[in-house]
Formats: sequence, C-alpha cells, structure tokens
Amino acid sequence: MVLKEIWKNGRLKNQPSISQKTEYKEIWKNVLTFLERDLSKGEIATFLGSTELINLHEGKARILCPNRLTMEKLRTRYAAHLAEAFQTVCGGEHQFSFEIKPLENTIPTDSRTASQPSLFHHAPPNGLAASYSFENFVVGLSNQLAVSVARAAVEQPGALHNPLFIYSGVGLGKTHLLHAVGNSVREKTPNARIIYASAERFTSEFIRSIQSQQTAATFRRKFRGVDVLLIDDVQFFASRTASQEEFFNTFNELFLAGKQVVLAADRHPAEFKNIEQRLVSRFAGGMITDIQEPDLDMRLQILRNKAAAQQAEVSEDVLLALAQQLEGSIRQLEGTLHQLLAISQAQKSPPTEELLKAVLRTAPPTSTFIAPQDIISSVCRAYQITSEQLCSANRSREVVLPRQIAAYLLRQISRASLHQIGGFLGGKDHSTILYGLGKIEKQLISDQILKNQVESIRGEILGKNR
Ligand code: ADP
Ligand code: MG
Repeated sequence: MVLKEIWKNGRLKNQPSISQKTEYKEIWKNVLTFLERDLSKGEIATFLGSTELINLHEGKARILCPNRLTMEKLRTRYAAHLAEAFQTVCGGEHQFSFEIKPLENTIPTDSRTASQPSLFHHAPPNGLAASYSFENFVVGLSNQLAVSVARAAVEQPGALHNPLFIYSGVGLGKTHLLHAVGNSVREKTPNARIIYASAERFTSEFIRSIQSQQTAATFRRKFRGVDVLLIDDVQFFASRTASQEEFFNTFNELFLAGKQVVLAADRHPAEFKNIEQRLVSRFAGGMITDIQEPDLDMRLQILRNKAAAQQAEVSEDVLLALAQQLEGSIRQLEGTLHQLLAISQAQKSPPTEELLKAVLRTAPPTSTFIAPQDIISSVCRAYQITSEQLCSANRSREVVLPRQIAAYLLRQISRASLHQIGGFLGGKDHSTILYGLGKIEKQLISDQILKNQVESIRGEILGKNR
C-alpha cells in the first residue's frame, strides 16, 4: 500500500522490519530522553517532537523531519547533541542524514506511533508538558511536603499557598512538579489560563517583546492574564535588569488579583544574590518548601515505575543494584536505566546485573555531570545576556567574550569536543571555537580580573552541581 509507494520512490531503501522499527522507535525515544539533559522540553517538543529515526545501519542514522526548518535546525544547531546522544545510547560515532517527511497521505502508517501518545507530541503553547503529572510522580519522605502543598495549590489556586516556592538540587523533580500543577489545574478547570516558563524563557520573550509597543503589550497580556503562573529556575533572573523588574510587576499584579504563582529554583530565596530584595521578600511571603534527595525505597519505586512505563522487564535485583549505586539526582537514575535498556535492546540480551555494571563503567555515575546548558546559563547570567544572544551570530564584544568564556568552560568542565561546543553555541564551526579558545586562554594568562571572573563562574557552576 502506501509504504510500497514510498519504497518505489526510493525514499525508504533498506526497508526496516517491524521489530527494527520498534527498535528505532525505542532508540529515538532514548535519544530524546538523553537530550533532555541539555535541551529544554520546549526546544525538544518544537524541533524534535515530530521527528523520527527511520533507519540505523552501520553507524548511519536517517532521520525524518516534518519540514525544512526542522531539518536545518537538526543539521546545524543540534548535530552535536545528536552525535553525543547516539554515542551514549548506541555507542560509537554516527553519521546523520536528514529527510523531509513526505506528504501526510503517504506516511507509512505502521511506522508511526498513532495510537501511542508520544512524550513530545503534545506541547501546547502554554509550555506544559503533558507527560509530567502527579500520577507518575513518586511520593516519599523527601518530597511529600512539596507534593502536598502543590496539590493544595491545585485544589484552591491562589488561596492557600501563594506564592508557592519549591527549591532543591538538580534532578529532584521541581520541573516535574510545576508541570504536574499546571496539568492538574487544567484537568480540573479546562478553561484556566496557565503558563509554564523558565526564568530564561520569560527573559528572552520579554527582551524580544520590547521591540515595539504592540509586542510589549502582547507580552504583558500574556503573562498578566493568567490564572496560574509557573516559573521555573528562578535563579536565572539576572540582576538589576528590566526583565527582573518586569517579573516583579507581573508577580505583583497576579498576586493582587489572587492568581496562583508557583516558583522553582535551585536554592532558598534567602540565598539569591542576583535577585532584588523586594522580589525575594515577595517569594518568601507565601509557602517555601524543599525537595530532598530520595531514599533507597523511593529510588527503587521510581525505577520500577519507569521500567513499567517502558514495558521493560527488569528484575528486582537489577533495579535494586541500580538504586543502590546512584544516589541523588533522579534524572541521573532515569538516564542510567534508559541507557541500560537501550543497550540491552541493541545487544538483544536481557538487562542483567553484568550489563548494568558495564553501563556504569562506561558511563560512570554522573553525579558530577554538568549539563552544557547549565554552563551556558551561568555565563549568560554573569554577563547579563540571554543564551539566545550568546548562541547567535552577534560579533559585538559584549557577546563574543562571554561566548569564548562559555566555550572555555564547556571544554574544561564538560570535556566537550570542539565540534560539540560549536553545536552548543548555536552551530558554530569548530575552527571558530578553536580560535576563540586560543584567544581566551591567552587572555587569561595576562588578565587577572578576567581570570577572577571566570573562576567565580566556574565556582558557581561546580558549587551548584555538587
Ligand atoms: P529538577 O527540575 O529538580 O532538576 P526534574 O523535575 O527535571 O528535576 O526531574 C528530573 C527527572 O526525574 C524527570 O524526568 C522527572 O520526571 C523525574 N522525577 C523527579 N522526581 C520524580 C519522582 N518523585 N517520581 C518520578 N519521577 C521523578
Ligand atoms: Mg528543572
């Protein structure tokens, strides 16, 4: 039928079998999950949500894109990310080719996940990710208070805990909880206006909006017209900027109107250095709660659920071994389980303890794993520019210096390759990166002030990810 037509047209050479297709789907899912470490959910939903891995053979991966824009983005901006993700999920280096999906009526229906909702296919413009709910959030000692106040905020938005401020170290469920609040309110009150945005997103949208009176008004209407505002990674508001002022005003307006505001950050409000006191005292005016690291029972339960969600059979012993090995970040726990399952599938062998050991050996516990995005964000904050500016083609000194510093820290902390760094910084050529690194390294030798700046950014990145 339709599939045949496509093969006839030569679009799908090396016809994959049904089981291969399932395998590709699984690999692609793991790749996307891995990318969550570096890319925001919104970015993944926008540029990777409707893409597919349609063939993988001898290190050559063919990826189907819904349109040309996506294809170009994948080719330029995300190439390094994809390379790294495939390296982790499948091992080895890969070459990528991208194709544009044929018209809708020729889509091979059986290669699509029509009946199976994908994590990334639902990304409504309010920024909510449907896959993060209370139902799939495991509650334990470490997060029960946060969950109960979040649920109370859903029951009576704006009434009980306003603002609700949740803080914790990385990978412990803040983002998940914010989305859960949003999704849950939406379920209860489908007409409720809800926005989820990170502080960075708020900032970059704000900066874009001030270009004209009309866009500025649209921005205000958007953020001040909500019933529930969920702002993530509040620590990324840069100091003394117009965007912080804008957020302050947005917050006040919503608060006075009795609208629910939920905020998440990596630290207690009292520890903010960049954020003005008046804003800090607003944050502290409602309910502040933290999430601690999960205990063993909870880690095990999370792994059981994640394995079940993937319909993967993993023995209790293996799950326990994994839960014992990795403390701290749940993201890391999840990532390692994904790797284990991907490798077990690729090798067509069950996920045994031996395989787990091998996975942990090749990917040592990444408690020290620092997402490139965290490095980029810290540099941007220090220099008060947005990550979009940093990753743009802008050649002014205010942007070039932070870009070179970001490249330097990506190299030093993440041990990223020149190619990868180029990718993280908006698709720059590796020779551009090399040139920049040379310049900054030379400058660091002679310029003590710059050196101190860079060291303090490095300290912040490492301190935050301890
Ligand atoms: P944070 O925002 O605190 O850095 P995230 O909310 O992004 O952390 O969580 C990291 C990953 O761990 C996500 O995939 C999330 O779904 C998962 N996760 C975190 N806490 C839980 C939990 N209690 N139950 C199930 N999954 C969780
Ligand atoms: Mg988060």
